Amino acid sequence: KVSQKYTGIIEDCCCDFETVDSINGEVLHPLLKELVATPFFRYFKVKLGCRCPFWPEDGMCRLRDCSVCECPENEFPEPFKKNFHPALISTDFMCQEGKSQASVDRTVDNGAFRGWVETDNPWTNDDETDNDDMTYVNLQINPERYTGYSGPSARRIWDAVYTENCPKYPEGEIFQEKKVLYKLISGLHSSISIHIGAEYLLHELTNQWGENPELMNDRVLRYPDRVQNLYFTFLFVLRSVMKAANYLEHAEYNTGNNEEDMKSHSLVKQLVHNSKLQAACPLPFDEAKLWQGQSGPELKQTIQMQFKNISALMDCVGCEKCRLWGKLQILGLGTALKILFSVDDKNHPSEPLQRNEVIALLNLLNRLSESVKLVHEKADMIENVVHIV
Ligand code: FAD
Repeated sequence: KVSQKYTGIIEDCCCDFETVDSINGEVLHPLLKELVATPFFRYFKVKLGCRCPFWPEDGMCRLRDCSVCECPENEFPEPFKKNFHPALISTDFMCQEGKSQASVDRTVDNGAFRGWVETDNPWTNDDETDNDDMTYVNLQINPERYTGYSGPSARRIWDAVYTENCPKYPEGEIFQEKKVLYKLISGLHSSISIHIGAEYLLHELTNQWGENPELMNDRVLRYPDRVQNLYFTFLFVLRSVMKAANYLEHAEYNTGNNEEDMKSHSLVKQLVHNSKLQAACPLPFDEAKLWQGQSGPELKQTIQMQFKNISALMDCVGCEKCRLWGKLQILGLGTALKILFSVDDKNHPSEPLQRNEVIALLNLLNRLSESVKLVHEKADMIENVVHIV
């Protein structure tokens, strides 16, 4: 059957495309967009140093186009530090080399947080409790978009992710667990590609940015499995947020800015206890079905190792802004995995969440929600999309 849009049930999930599109457009996307702009959610702590354990010899972390100059503090004009405005990033700024769209602005206040425990995430490679070399990045002024990062370096990362760490499962694979990791990564890859296409540098000379629908089509929209995996990843992460509802509702969103912090708290509550969402899609993904068989514990260990490897590969991404968003989104997925799978006998998370995990989780959900919205809008433009049954 041929249709202009993606319709039907999303494989391995409990909702269909139409329901997800409608609840996302109406409720989730507006809420998440507002939430990630609040001070608590916009500062992400990250190690951006390039410690690639896999190809240390070839300097691939220092690609010219994506390299970042560590500007000494005194080179920044005072307004950069406090009231930074993106328009101030100019290509002739003395410290910047190569494509400025690939570099991360780090001039943010790092004293903004209180409360929260520091624990390590069992699914990721970075030690989240080790604060050496960590910087705080304001995500709002470092958007995920086109950076110019491509070629053999980018290809090598994706190849290593897919061939060594989450091979595409054979047709008819019975272990759903084996499918999950592949689908999560493929869904994230689709989302990254959609964001590249949504904010693309159309003309380098005039610095004109805009949409590149052909890119979205060529890389994602014309592949039903990539679109489906994007929706799967969105629902998986959404389920983890719903499962952690009580924790998220009672967490401390304290940056010292009372009004904004109350807004963060209220938006989180609106998200996790949303009656429209509960009615439309009460169980976006059913994690209880996994790890049940005899090989369950062993499978879980293998998949945890594979995910850790993928997380370590993020240190090999040769473009700083891509590395930032790669690390954030992999930590977000690691947090979703931790909420759904690192649980005690009563199915409660065995470890508390840490602040950075919550920031990564909700920013990831926002990115996926935005991609789902864009796919839904753009799917109208393509002809002959196969109906998914
Ligand atoms: P790629 O996107 O590199 O894909 C490589 C191959 O993977 C494809 O040929 C295909 O066989 C397969 N593939 C593609 N999509 C999927 C999917 N959804 N599911 C399964 N298989 C798939 N560039 C930016 O401009 N901005 C960014 O923020 C950015 N972030 C990145 C983050 C990471 C972690 C990495 C590894 C790369 C990032 N890049 C970013 C680079 C970008 O993802 C592409 O690699 C680059 O644009 C070149 O694209 P490509 O057409 O060669 O295909």
